[in-house]
Amino acid sequence: MAIRFAKRMEGLKESEIRELLKLTEKPEVISFAGGLPAPELFPIEEMKEISKIVLEESGTQALQYSTTEGFQPLREKIARRMNSKNKTNVTKDDILITNGSQQGLDFAGRVFLNEGDIVLCESPSYLGAINAFKSYGSKFIEVPTDKDGMIMEALEKILEVTENVKMIYVIPDFQNPTGITWTLERRKKFIEIISKYEIPVLEDNPYGELRFEGESIPSLKSMDKKGLVIFLGTFSKILCPGYRLGWTCASQNILKKFIFVKQVADLQSSSISQREVSKFIDLYNLDNHVKKINEVYARRRDLMLETMKEEFPEGVEYTYPEGGLFIWVELPKHLDSRIIMKDCLANNVAYVPGGSFFPNGGTENCFRLNYSNMSDDRIVEGIKRIGLILRKYMAV
Ligand code: PMP
Repeated sequence: MAIRFAKRMEGLKESEIRELLKLTEKPEVISFAGGLPAPELFPIEEMKEISKIVLEESGTQALQYSTTEGFQPLREKIARRMNSKNKTNVTKDDILITNGSQQGLDFAGRVFLNEGDIVLCESPSYLGAINAFKSYGSKFIEVPTDKDGMIMEALEKILEVTENVKMIYVIPDFQNPTGITWTLERRKKFIEIISKYEIPVLEDNPYGELRFEGESIPSLKSMDKKGLVIFLGTFSKILCPGYRLGWTCASQNILKKFIFVKQVADLQSSSISQREVSKFIDLYNLDNHVKKINEVYARRRDLMLETMKEEFPEGVEYTYPEGGLFIWVELPKHLDSRIIMKDCLANNVAYVPGGSFFPNGGTENCFRLNYSNMSDDRIVEGIKRIGLILRKYMAV
């Protein structure tokens, strides 16, 4: 029987990469492939106590339906945190609670994209967003980036000659996959350009608080005077991803549409999760918790970079992220990281081949390494193994 699926499913196929990544889940594999937080940092004891308190204090509400916008005290706390960390000037009324920021990406697709519409994104960009937008039939134009973020001259050139750009998707802080952070100058120029063209911008910021050094840079949302920037935040990396709680912060006319599609999608995010996370912020110091996370990740980043310096052959380039979870590696043009990955897997070590981060494909000489999820000794051992394999390929 030939089952007829919706047309929008046609562009979405099981990727070769997903199949490869399944192999990285075996316990003997030292995997730098995922983007997972360190589970030993999850506040399990605290959350045990909190779930009891929430059920005792407000059990009926915690287990009941609640509003689509989300639990008001949590939205208030998010607005306050954004104003302090991201230099915005927002209130709870500008916040919608979502199931992780991934749901915000999906909603942006539903709200803005018709089939064939163009999304501009950094080259490379986050695979989960690329797939979310693809499922609405979008096309992509990749804007080149360098160590300071998206290249503004390239963006301007593209906008001058392209109609039907419906949305620009960017990750200005510790980007996934490159770890790069946009400079203040780039951000200012970006806001100047999008204000002229009046195109909505999705500023995805799951990693901004994971800064190990240097000064944090104001968000695009804080510089936007025209209500074009939609900010996506999440508790996944600063607390834990299991609650599936994130948020969308946008101007009223846009947020209204997001609230409407939230109603259609799932009515609301989990009442009990929202109350538990809100209670965590009341009883514990989230800033101190993030500080603890950053100390561990900074050490792992340093260890990974130091080992790469010793073990990777000359001619391999990589980023030096000041925070976040990822290092991006570039090999000489003639090398294909998918082929090298097969050798790595045979040696029980893994990364994500870079090709899938380019929505239009065509770049295979790069890969992404994650340092948050592996112990110190596994980081050293895994990087040594990759180094040895790279030496073999570089020698030919
Ligand atoms: N955006 C980016 C750039 C990400 O890296 C991730 C998770 N890896 C997400 C969004 C989604 O995260 P979550 O849904 O857990 O908030």
